Amino acid sequence: MRPFTYQVPSSIQKATSDFGQDAEFIAGGTTLIDLMKLEVMTPSHLVDINRLPIRGIQITADGLRIGALEKMGDVAEHPEVVSKYPVISQALLKSASAQLRNMASMGGNLLQRTRCGYFRDVSTPCNKRQPGSGCPAIDGWNRTHAILGTSSSCVATHPSDLAVALVALDASILLQDRNQDRVLKLDDFYRVPGETPDKENQLNPGELITEIRVPRLPSAQRSVYLKVRDRESYEFALASVAAALDVDGDQIRDARIAVGGVGTKPWNLPKVRDALIGKPLNQQTFEAAAKLATEGAQPLRHNAFKVELVQRTIVRALMNLETLA
Ligand code: SF4
Repeated sequence: MRPFTYQVPSSIQKATSDFGQDAEFIAGGTTLIDLMKLEVMTPSHLVDINRLPIRGIQITADGLRIGALEKMGDVAEHPEVVSKYPVISQALLKSASAQLRNMASMGGNLLQRTRCGYFRDVSTPCNKRQPGSGCPAIDGWNRTHAILGTSSSCVATHPSDLAVALVALDASILLQDRNQDRVLKLDDFYRVPGETPDKENQLNPGELITEIRVPRLPSAQRSVYLKVRDRESYEFALASVAAALDVDGDQIRDARIAVGGVGTKPWNLPKVRDALIGKPLNQQTFEAAAKLATEGAQPLRHNAFKVELVQRTIVRALMNLETLA
């Protein structure tokens, strides 16, 4: 690990004002410290944000608000999150290990970097780590890589389970820096790689995620997160589904759906949603809608199995919700 300087500001104004070149914010540090040890990230200055007043979990008339410094484990076990937004609780509980969930912050989770092995190995080229150096995953080992949103520059998946659940629920984030506050839909915050895979989101230098806002939705209470992975714990998704249904008798009144493990960003599925709304609540409806999820998919040599896997995972998730109806 390379040497760095360190400061612990106590206000957002101070933290964002002092953020200079080659600086990084640090909260739980569960991604950043790993990547610094590997020399994938080499900041010369760390701004520790743990003393900033950006905590709290509140359910209001408008929905759910979560301070960015809340720990993943605390949010996952919050009684009202469990009962009113089960998809968020389940996505968090299926992320990482209990130790990591007790350390990692909600804001940091949304900013975690890809698990592509080439990205984490500084002895190989990688366009995301070193723009213009190439992407060995495209012709190399790509079983865990993306089939949606890929480009000739990068095919890495976004690793966050939480982000998939939040995109499905149409969540927004509050971003703050020394000059302005702005609110962005999380779905718009993430970028597909295109020609610039090193630019993963809309965050400006020195800008912080300070709050997560989830709207009040009738469907949120009947929601689920289903994650398929190579082993049952502490593993990233091969395919995952965040789904929520609001039903009227045996008809679907509203649906929310996004998938993970298959896209270069948390992958929202508005066409699948449209194919569910107004339809009967049954397996035939789910199967017909799920086929639309992989429109435009570009499988690689080792990951074509994800096309059928994600379709089946969507059907299973929706069947789980049907039994709750
Ligand atoms: Fe790097 Fe993306 Fe290629 Fe992985 S897939 S090696 S992160 S450019």
